[in-house]
Amino acid sequence: MIYKGIIERYKKYLPVTDKTPIITLYEGNTPLLRAKNIEKFLDINCEIYLKFEGANPTGSFKDRGMTMAISKAVECRSKAVICASTGNTAASAAAYAARAGLKCSVIIPDGSIALGKLSQAMMHGAKVIALKGNFDDALKIVLEITEKYPLTLVNSLNPYRIEGQKTAAFEIIDFLGRAPDYHFIPVGNAGNITAYWKGYTEWKTGPKMMGFQASGAAPIVRGKPVKNPKTIATAIKIGNPASWKKAEQARDESKGVIDTVTDGEIIKAYKLLASLEGIFVEPASAASVAGLIKYKDVIVSKAKQSRFTIVCTLTGHGLKDPDRAIKSAIQPKVIDQNMKKILKAIGL
Ligand SMILES: *Cc1c(COP(=O)(O)O)cnc(C)c1O
Repeated sequence: MIYKGIIERYKKYLPVTDKTPIITLYEGNTPLLRAKNIEKFLDINCEIYLKFEGANPTGSFKDRGMTMAISKAVECRSKAVICASTGNTAASAAAYAARAGLKCSVIIPDGSIALGKLSQAMMHGAKVIALKGNFDDALKIVLEITEKYPLTLVNSLNPYRIEGQKTAAFEIIDFLGRAPDYHFIPVGNAGNITAYWKGYTEWKTGPKMMGFQASGAAPIVRGKPVKNPKTIATAIKIGNPASWKKAEQARDESKGVIDTVTDGEIIKAYKLLASLEGIFVEPASAASVAGLIKYKDVIVSKAKQSRFTIVCTLTGHGLKDPDRAIKSAIQPKVIDQNMKKILKAIGL
């Protein structure tokens, strides 16, 4: 078995040359899992597949973009990178920067980043600045800094991020032999929906792109920025997405939708994925499946003639946000070393 990252696998389709130093953790090539239990649960006559991006090296799809952004930063002789982040970009940037020997600074919104992500960024040696403010404030400050100082921006406004992330669409087409009919995806800063659509259209195909924002952080759906975005899904807690226009373009060109799901719907899908399919994701990731549940009737009514293929992107791993998992599950019973009591607790 020869390991390859996304740059080596898809070199032809990426803005790299033989001189580009490849900084990789062997990201990509993530599982596309058939979700038969969810198909049965939803009683839906379609094939549902889950693209589990939590299987990437740092636990989210951000690694696909980061291998490109950091490799290009090294090629351009940059010495330091910076990003604003709700957590996963920070974790990914910190890891790839460590591997490349670059300095890394990350600005995160104080108090709204999940524990796993913060601990990753800290362990990889990034300078972590917790800003009193939200993600949108952090991004604004980072853009100001990169205008004046020689730091490379590695947010998804860096076009190499989008280039790397589009490889997820390539993998889906490679695996299925064609594009799916529907593609459900969470939308935060809207880089990922932009990247998938770019990937699909480069291979002259494409599903309907079905993007989902949390109802308390849904600027694209509402048609205006949200000042104080609110949701438990911290990775999509964004009030003014950087790739807003491109997300709308992906929606319109694909004849898809961008809509909302509530935190309650997100948590329901989060639990369903873990209990029915054995897949543990962070809450934001479950917005795609929550969206599928919301649109089930629309799809079923259209699926009378043909059996649709549906892909849901699961953006990040459940271990990123252990606090939410513990809050969402039944607490373990504390029991004495007494066999009778233990057997009773097991249900024997
Ligand atoms: C970054 C991220 C998102 C949102 O992706 P955008 O490209 O910002 O729309 C969703 N889920 C997880 C887990 C993420 O890390």
